Amino acid sequence: MTSPEDLKKYVRDVPDYPQKGIIFRDITPLLGEKTIFREVVELMSRAWSANPPDLVAAIEARGFIPGAAIAVKLGAGFVPIRKTGKLPWMTVMESYELEYGTDQLEVHSDAVQPGQKVLIVDDVLATGGTASAAVRLMRKLGADVVGVQVLIELGYLEGRQRLQDVKLVSEIVY
Ligand code: AMP
Repeated sequence: MTSPEDLKKYVRDVPDYPQKGIIFRDITPLLGEKTIFREVVELMSRAWSANPPDLVAAIEARGFIPGAAIAVKLGAGFVPIRKTGKLPWMTVMESYELEYGTDQLEVHSDAVQPGQKVLIVDDVLATGGTASAAVRLMRKLGADVVGVQVLIELGYLEGRQRLQDVKLVSEIVY
């Protein structure tokens, strides 16, 4: 297995994107390397394989990429968590705070049955606002949220603080 430090070679740091002062962690070089992409999917599945979830719920848009592969690997179904207005059927919504204003996540109201075990997946945990909203959204539907799996954790933003009541696993920490 490639070490977390070596995996960082496949993450491109893009300064001042999408706005000044942000270092964007671009995972497209990692996705484009067939052995590394496969390894990352295996790493991100590892903590959950002994007690697999019924569903993997991943967050639009980059969360979908590892999320769908992890669902297949774990033998779970897949649920897309989307920004508002994208889903065609009845939805449930959860709001979360941004630096300026708020944003919303939505999921189909029949996407999860009460008591189903759900693993939430995203590419990057930054402030934790998005992932904690996803946890609340899944719980609104009665899900048993077994954990949150991200590829990259930006430790300096302390997003982990917002997810204290759920198991959080990351593979690469900055
Ligand atoms: P947050 O809600 O602050 O934890 O932000 C997490 C969401 O925003 C994830 O869906 C990420 O894809 C995206 N994101 C936030 N910061 C970055 C970053 N520095 N590089 C790449 N994606 C980011």
